[in-house]
Amino acid sequence: MKSDKQNSCSFCGRHQDRVQILVTGLDAFICEDCVEQAQKIVTSELKSVTQKKHKTQKTKKPKEIKSFLDEYIIGQDDAKKIIAVAVYNHYKRLNQHIDDDIEIEKSNIMMVGQTGTGKTLIAKTIAKLLDVPFTIVDATVFTQAGYVGEDVESILSRLLQVCDYDITAAERGIVYIDEIDKITRSGDNPSITKDVSGEGVQQALLKLLEGTDVLVPPQGGRKHPEQKLVKINTNNILFICGGAFDGIEKLISKRMNSSVVGFKKGVDGHVVDKTNFLQYITQQDLKSYGLIPELIGRVPVLSHLDPLDKVALKAILLEPKNALIKQYKKLFKLEHIELIVEDEVIDIIVDKALEYNLGARGLRSICEAIFTEAMFELPSEKNVKKFMVDKAYALERISKSKISKLKVA
Ligand code: ADP
Repeated sequence: MKSDKQNSCSFCGRHQDRVQILVTGLDAFICEDCVEQAQKIVTSELKSVTQKKHKTQKTKKPKEIKSFLDEYIIGQDDAKKIIAVAVYNHYKRLNQHIDDDIEIEKSNIMMVGQTGTGKTLIAKTIAKLLDVPFTIVDATVFTQAGYVGEDVESILSRLLQVCDYDITAAERGIVYIDEIDKITRSGDNPSITKDVSGEGVQQALLKLLEGTDVLVPPQGGRKHPEQKLVKINTNNILFICGGAFDGIEKLISKRMNSSVVGFKKGVDGHVVDKTNFLQYITQQDLKSYGLIPELIGRVPVLSHLDPLDKVALKAILLEPKNALIKQYKKLFKLEHIELIVEDEVIDIIVDKALEYNLGARGLRSICEAIFTEAMFELPSEKNVKKFMVDKAYALERISKSKISKLKVA
């Protein structure tokens, strides 16, 4: 009897002769059919655990979302508020019980602002807060189906890849589509002669944005025609689009019908701040710029980012949780060296970033120019406990770096 048990599947009881494979464990055996069955149970259980986890996750209130963003992003209050509300509503929508005729619609977001003002950073920070899969895609790589380039479906392939092909997780993720302004209609964008990457791509994006079942090649691209397609529903995926929309200020000002530099009363009698037209942006301006109305309709939340001035750049260097200067101090601390950066040096870094028109992105290059030499030399030196950076040292390092070869904007 004992030996019979030893030669049978411990789960279905079938004897060795009646199965193809019998895997031996410490005190048990399992046949190929039971392995397959167990695999199905595990997959379905894991899926329901993930779903439960998301359902029980407490949605943060808009104010909490905004304060979280404040820890990482300087300024941009308007954008942060609008986005906090949109994200809150999005997740409320995911948990909605449709017991009446009112169904909350998706609140995809459009952010308009110069490059380097924090659009990507906001999207990234939101994803970190919500602990959902997040991916950044560049709209310029997409072409209309049938042309050389990537199909828009590959956006979802990337989302799948970041969450290890967990479809349930991907279906609640966030996608940041950068450079959305580069796929405007060719008529409005002289650099595009053929419209394969213009209106055609906008049309292709439509179905993704509104929420539908999409068949996605898990490995992305068209290079693996043999791969099995995976079905993803985009209904609960939040799309955040961003773009600089160079020159849109002119369209806004034209619409507002005011042409004098400075402050002037607009059509409705309000004082118009002409140094920052983006704050008055409306969906109509996006249409004039060359986005198709259908696409604009599917990205109903519109926000703008302000250009970064001296005060903002200084704050970016010093204040956010992972501010650049904090990062360099940490790097030196790991060598047991205290890094002291004089106030004047901070001003120099900010002035240079403005001078070369590099925005917040430039702060990093200028810091590298100043600190690299010391980061190269000091780890090999003994008994250095303190490293002080003053104005003369900073200017000397900048003048010896590639940065100084840049043309002043
Ligand atoms: P873009 O608007 O072009 O998407 P990013 O968000 O990529 O700009 O910004 C580039 C870098 O500049 C960020 O990684 C961040 O370090 C810094 N930065 C830009 N704007 C801000 C901001 N408002 N607050 C804090 N850091 C910022």
